[in-house]
Amino acid sequence: MVSFEQARSTILASVQPLGSERVSLPEAAGRVLAEDLAAPWNMPAWDNSAMDGYAVRAADCGTIPVRLTVTGFLPAGARGDDLRVEPGCAVRIMTGAPLPAGCDAVVPVEDTEGGQQETTLREPVQKGQHIRLRGEDVTVGTIFLRSGAIIRPPEINMLASFGMALVPVFRRPTVAILSTGDELVELGRTPGTGEVLNSNTLSLAASVREAGGIPLILGIARDNRDNHIEKLKQGLKADVLITSAGVSAGDCDLVRDVLAELGADQLFWKIGIKPGGPTAFALHGATPVFSLPGNPVSTMITFEEFVRPALLRMQGHRRVVRPRFKAVLREDQTKKPGKVQIVRVRLERDGERWYASSAGKQQTAILKTMVDAEGLAVLPAEGTRFAAGEEVEVHFYGSHIELVEEQP
Ligand code: AMP
Ligand code: MG
Repeated sequence: MVSFEQARSTILASVQPLGSERVSLPEAAGRVLAEDLAAPWNMPAWDNSAMDGYAVRAADCGTIPVRLTVTGFLPAGARGDDLRVEPGCAVRIMTGAPLPAGCDAVVPVEDTEGGQQETTLREPVQKGQHIRLRGEDVTVGTIFLRSGAIIRPPEINMLASFGMALVPVFRRPTVAILSTGDELVELGRTPGTGEVLNSNTLSLAASVREAGGIPLILGIARDNRDNHIEKLKQGLKADVLITSAGVSAGDCDLVRDVLAELGADQLFWKIGIKPGGPTAFALHGATPVFSLPGNPVSTMITFEEFVRPALLRMQGHRRVVRPRFKAVLREDQTKKPGKVQIVRVRLERDGERWYASSAGKQQTAILKTMVDAEGLAVLPAEGTRFAAGEEVEVHFYGSHIELVEEQP
């Protein structure tokens, strides 16, 4: 048995970012940049006006009010290279238009009398005011985004501003999902006595997608060697293979043996964590294989704690675990020593502190508590009693939008 921390570090040491690919800019949203990118030109590309107003020479404007002759007009989109601001003159200019030669300040229209032929300035003028200088945002040739950056709307906007229609990003892993068990039936059938709907395949596919991977659903492997061999072989063609169930010590638990037969190298079996103990991790060549327990709550918790970080790392993410914080327990918690216990909790904030209360019955088979959980509290392996009022480590589970107290 390995500890929670050993399991995670073994997994993370076994996976690397996949290769990169070029995708169109709209498709790059949410992906991770795979190269450092240098600015192909200055941003802004030319000195331009930050306001609608008049381009002037600051030296003309020493004593206010000052009257200037308007000698031209520069809307956004005009080139302005045929215009020059002569002494005693101004050029009407709109926001974003290139600055004409000769000027060194822009006066906002609201600080003037307005006018097309001439204008009067009412406010003192500072040299350089309301001018956006060429390259002041990003200078040509400098790195404006580094490999590892997550492409969010601000990155999209900057990439678009530099005309980058194709973006190098890390590949998304294909993730084969295989459920095992003679008792399983697929969605669409009403299960008879003893039959269990294959819900894990569907929640795993949703989790994989949420983590940025591409799920490949392999269906169900029945509890016999031949069917396991056929389906596992298929699964090993993906970048990652996840199996559910058949990994404990039961008579029909074939996953680990068949994986070994197919040449997978098992790095560990059993983690000191509850729920989720009977989890195995293997490498088949460079392909990580996660054999998760079949109990749906265990499947989801082990995905969250061990598979998700690996999928994120394979996509080039640097931060692979969700934010962790301290929360005060509302109730006493007791556990056996030797294993990390994951408690499904609801969360509320009071002032600066978070409070965690049990989301319901904590037995592994209780699915509803997983639905109601907003966080996973991690009770360390060593302890046995955690009293109400003690602080423990918690991380958000799934969406936490509903935890924001004030909603419009
Ligand atoms: P096992 O690991 O095969 O002993 O399965 C543990 C428990 O999880 C049993 O109650 C199974 O019926 C249940 N289970 C196994 N696979 C799935 C699945 N794909 N979807 C839902 N429940 C499952
Ligand atoms: Mg089974």
